[in-house]
Amino acid sequence: MTPDLMEAGAERQQAYTARIERLALATESGGRSAGYGRVAQAGEVDTTHGRILYLEDVSVSFDGFKAINKLSLDIAPGELRCIIGPNGAGKTTMMDIITGKTRPDEGTVFFGSTIDLLRYKESEIAQLGIGRKFQKPTVFEQLTVFENLELALKTNKGVPASMFFRLDSAQADRLAEVLHTIHLASEVGRQAGNLSHGQKQWLEIGMLLMQDPKLLLLDEPVAGMTDEETERTAELFLSLEGAHSLVVVEHDMKFIGELTTNGPNAAKKKVTVLHEGSVLAEGTLADVQANDKVVEVYLGR
Ligand code: ADP
Ligand code: MG
Repeated sequence: MTPDLMEAGAERQQAYTARIERLALATESGGRSAGYGRVAQAGEVDTTHGRILYLEDVSVSFDGFKAINKLSLDIAPGELRCIIGPNGAGKTTMMDIITGKTRPDEGTVFFGSTIDLLRYKESEIAQLGIGRKFQKPTVFEQLTVFENLELALKTNKGVPASMFFRLDSAQADRLAEVLHTIHLASEVGRQAGNLSHGQKQWLEIGMLLMQDPKLLLLDEPVAGMTDEETERTAELFLSLEGAHSLVVVEHDMKFIGELTTNGPNAAKKKVTVLHEGSVLAEGTLADVQANDKVVEVYLGR
């Protein structure tokens, strides 16, 4: 990036910082339930049948090996679903299929009851309102926290055009809310490269939230985080539940415990166990922990 672009970015940032600080304070009282203004208008998703995501009998083979084998899964609007299972179970491949990165050999994948995801390209699926967080943080290290979030609104315009893009008032408000949600309001002017690993992960989640996705797919989000960062991430996800649907893949069972035993439907929250490309068990955390097959292939004794 050229120095004048950097300067333009820095100036705009200063102008917004004061406003953002005010707004961040203002949203404090709203706490977890503070609503988001809609900025990025994704097409409406029809969830009248009680599902935001629906997979039925999905299979995919790589060189004859069935990575996903007749997988069926149903996620309700606003649900926070945890998915666990051994390495190689197909968890990441499942996300690749939902996001259009991998095409299944057979099966059905619907977003709401009307959007057949198998008809869309990866970039279109993101536009439809499905945000994905990969395992490694992929923030722009040379840009500030602010600039990263700002850029997230304009990902398809390329960096130079985006540097001259100005937030409208609703977008600035949203940026402030997201900053607050991801606990980075006090780091707004910091270079992303200087954040801790956990903060980079939150920033990337913030970048997804700027697009106001209906469904968020999070692949091993707390890998490499400190215990404290892990706890704050659980709080963050619980704060998103309801307004967004979340599918969280993780190995950290303490984190899974936090997510499933807190929040509005704590007693009924489902955990799905994947094994060899299909659902081995599904139920409350207590149910799956008591399931002999799950203990055998994953949790151990
Ligand atoms: P998990 O995320 O549950 O650990 P993955 O979905 O990454 O599992 O992988 C499931 C299986 O599919 C593994 O055996 C993996 O090696 C294989 N696999 C995944 N993606 C590909 C690919 N693009 N080409 C070949 N094999 C793959
Ligand atoms: Mg994986």
